Amino acid sequence: MGKIAALIVAGGRGERAGGGVAKQYRPLLGKPVLSWTVDAFRDADPVQVVIGADDSAAFEAAMSGRKILAPATGGPNRQESVRLGLEALAAHSPEFVLIHDAARPLASSALIARVKDALHSGAEAVVPVLPVTDALKRREENGLPAVSRDGLFRAQTPQGFRFDAILAAHRAQRGREAVDDIAIAENAGMKITTVAGDERNLKITAAEDFALAESLMGGQFRTGMGLDAHRFGPGDHVWLCGLKIPHSAGLIGHSDADAGLHALTDAILGAIGSGDIGQHFPPTDERWRGASSDKFLKHASDLVTKAGGSVVHCDVTLICEAPKVSPHREAMRKRIAEILNLDVSRVSVKATTTEGMGFTGRREGIAAQAVATIRLPA
Ligand code: MG
Repeated sequence: MGKIAALIVAGGRGERAGGGVAKQYRPLLGKPVLSWTVDAFRDADPVQVVIGADDSAAFEAAMSGRKILAPATGGPNRQESVRLGLEALAAHSPEFVLIHDAARPLASSALIARVKDALHSGAEAVVPVLPVTDALKRREENGLPAVSRDGLFRAQTPQGFRFDAILAAHRAQRGREAVDDIAIAENAGMKITTVAGDERNLKITAAEDFALAESLMGGQFRTGMGLDAHRFGPGDHVWLCGLKIPHSAGLIGHSDADAGLHALTDAILGAIGSGDIGQHFPPTDERWRGASSDKFLKHASDLVTKAGGSVVHCDVTLICEAPKVSPHREAMRKRIAEILNLDVSRVSVKATTTEGMGFTGRREGIAAQAVATIRLPA
């Protein structure tokens, strides 16, 4: 079977969804809409995203660690953006392409498989469709006459095509407006095949669609906990929750001894039943000498992504008499949110002393506890 590429169109601004940031970069269950959409196409090869000219930074943040092509920059409208994306994909010579709207993050693997199967069975152009079930009316001067539903249906994405044919059709129809890529294919004389769409494949349009999408996503939630401690030694700074903090002592450890990130890494590993940090990064391994602990946390978070899930919340408690944590708390939350690709409102950093009791009370070292909540697909 030939290669099936995915083209995800994320060039729009989505002003109707409100909030200032383009809707495809706003968080849905803790990660950007576009991250969910791209993850839904993780079996496609390759994945090309078309973005708005001003969205490079938001795109890089949303895609952290994902193996996809460099983004193509979109045009003045969706149709031109799709064409530019297809041109960028041409160098990779896919046999088929699935063209999908970034604003549909809930495309299921079953829906994508239906479109792929139709292409593999010889279809040239495939569109998922749904029946119209609500009564339809037209507003007229004298009332609201009914409109027949006969022969009407709703069209969704991903729409699938033979790559060379849809690229040629887009090139030939530049400047001629079409509602979607199926219309372009039809204008070009391609035969259209329909497959069953999916009611859950919501297109996020209005602000209230975010709450609806989250409720449709459901899934199972799991919680893990982690605990870590490091001993003070000579030095003039400590690493805590990804920040370098000046101090009268350092922390001893094989890596950078960031007890906060180590506890959080273990909490995430715990939530997916994937052992502990020592198993993934043995302290006997020279590769991890002096390593910056954001690598460990990113690794744990990538394992969750690979399982089709996401970290949705975390809570870290640092236990020490000194250094003072409160001046750094907000920067720590921000740094963890960055590493986990999570909205900062879903990251908590707290601190406590043990009132002079025990090893932290005697200022022999720093301890940290963490709890992580993750969502896995149902
Ligand atoms: Mg440690």
